[in-house]
Amino acid sequence: MMIYTSQNSADLVTLSAKGQLKSNAELREELHNNTEDIIVYTVGTSAPLPSSRAQTCTVVFVNGKFFVFDVGDGAVQKMENLHFPLMDVDEVFLTHLHSDHFIDLPYLINRSWQLGRPKKLKVTGPVGVQAISEGSELLLAQEHAYRVEHHGEKIMNIDAAGTIPNEVIVPSQGELLVYNTDGIKITAFDVGHEPVSPDFGYKIEYKGKKCVLSGDTSKNKNVIKHSANADLLIHEAMLKEVISQVSEVAGEMGNARNQKILEDVTNYHSTNIEAAEVAAEAGVKKLVLNHLAPVPDRKVIARLYTQGLSKIFKGDIALADDGDKFIIN
Ligand SMILES: [Zn+2]
Ligand SMILES: [Zn+2]
Repeated sequence: MMIYTSQNSADLVTLSAKGQLKSNAELREELHNNTEDIIVYTVGTSAPLPSSRAQTCTVVFVNGKFFVFDVGDGAVQKMENLHFPLMDVDEVFLTHLHSDHFIDLPYLINRSWQLGRPKKLKVTGPVGVQAISEGSELLLAQEHAYRVEHHGEKIMNIDAAGTIPNEVIVPSQGELLVYNTDGIKITAFDVGHEPVSPDFGYKIEYKGKKCVLSGDTSKNKNVIKHSANADLLIHEAMLKEVISQVSEVAGEMGNARNQKILEDVTNYHSTNIEAAEVAAEAGVKKLVLNHLAPVPDRKVIARLYTQGLSKIFKGDIALADDGDKFIIN
């Protein structure tokens, strides 16, 4: 049996293409016309464990600017699926140089340029950002040459293809203002993810509104300090007892390597309870749990993340999912 639907399929393709372009234009409008709010998208919300979710990536639209905070595996595809106008991306901010926070950087450099990014992409982050940016450019050199050759220099402006690496030094337990333009202030502050150092959280402030990203950290005083009275705190969270259980199972099954790695990772992250304590101590309005390990693909796991938290933190609590949107207005 065969079903032949060429006409309908063609219509569907046209409709789908129109829909995508319309969504893209709508987001562009939101990006460029909303000069009041901080709009935050949790694009990638998983820690580096098996999942259909993308790894860490948070997008902020504020006063016409399109900022990307971390860009882990799968993040660029998710941004495309969400119809973000990648050609408009202004700057990337990296928290630290674990692969789940930057491994999609070459693809972001590449796709945003293919789609029309008019200038080099600035990449701000800790020492090491220079090597990662230059390494990405080397990785992409042949690919970029093919695009120029195929589509022409006018369409593919090779002068805009690269990056502007911006390594910043943040004092231990201190902070540094890393962006201060058009009323937008972005501060990088030191957090606790030893032995990984430097490692930043970021604070985004605009028109009296404040959003804080914890980065990867164990419970940390600097996160509490910078989150004081924030409208939104996006904090990492790990169910350590579940990860420990998985570690034990790995050991029982003779996989000592995985057992050790899983044991180690519980040392430098926060539990959901600690994230709630941070939110309570800082007096934030809304807490979003992010960088989730394990990923709450099943309801029973999702429940474990939020169970009992309202006793610790009285504000709003949400469990991030890929593509969730938060408007601070
Ligand atoms: Zn990390
Ligand atoms: Zn991470």
